[in-house]
Amino acid sequence: MTEELERLWRLHDLDERAATVKAALAKYPEQKSSLEGRVNTEKKRLEVHAVAADEALKARRKVEQEIETVNAQQKEFEKRQPQVKTNEEFRALTAEIDGCKRKRSDLETKVLESMDREEALASQKPAIERALKEAEAERNGRIAEIARAEDTERAQLAELEAQRQEQIAGLPQATRLRYERIHGARDGRAVVAVINNACGGCYRAQPPQLMQDIRRGDRVFTCDGCGRLLVQPPGDPVSAS
Ligand SMILES: [Zn+2]
Repeated sequence: MTEELERLWRLHDLDERAATVKAALAKYPEQKSSLEGRVNTEKKRLEVHAVAADEALKARRKVEQEIETVNAQQKEFEKRQPQVKTNEEFRALTAEIDGCKRKRSDLETKVLESMDREEALASQKPAIERALKEAEAERNGRIAEIARAEDTERAQLAELEAQRQEQIAGLPQATRLRYERIHGARDGRAVVAVINNACGGCYRAQPPQLMQDIRRGDRVFTCDGCGRLLVQPPGDPVSAS
């Protein structure tokens, strides 16, 4: 294997490692947004709960006002009762008063139902608040962890890039230009291993003549399928046979 091919093989290794680190880095935005999403879901639940509690209270206040109105009406009817002249008028007022009593009883039932509902809502609130706090704590903890991992991985990338530059500098200019062009166009993967007589990048089978040329290990060949540079992995007895 020539020094040129050895450098290309080292570049293959560096680029694969960089691709792995980049793939890890690429996952963090989605992880972060999913953590935010959970916090937002819990916030929304708390908001919905607050609205429901407020509506229940308002509804009860309204019924309580209706009871006040019914009480006032009943008092009016009762005040008029001693003043009536006929039995018919008296019976009519008694019927009105009975109507008021029935209405109040119905309204009081509604008040009790509303209070039950308010109580149930109040008892649910601590669990919802706790879930929000937990989601926030998990988000904060995980985001701090992610930030540390990102720092480490960015430092690794910088180190890999420095090593890559070192290897590139030692390549013949024509090979360097080819490598850089493919590196830019192929998502940072310019050099691929030949595996079972096929390109390790696009899996295209390589012609027997080309395989013989590649095995000699004295020149750089390109895959017709993907344009990447083909290297026979050093010390690979199966592929080399
Ligand atoms: Zn290929």
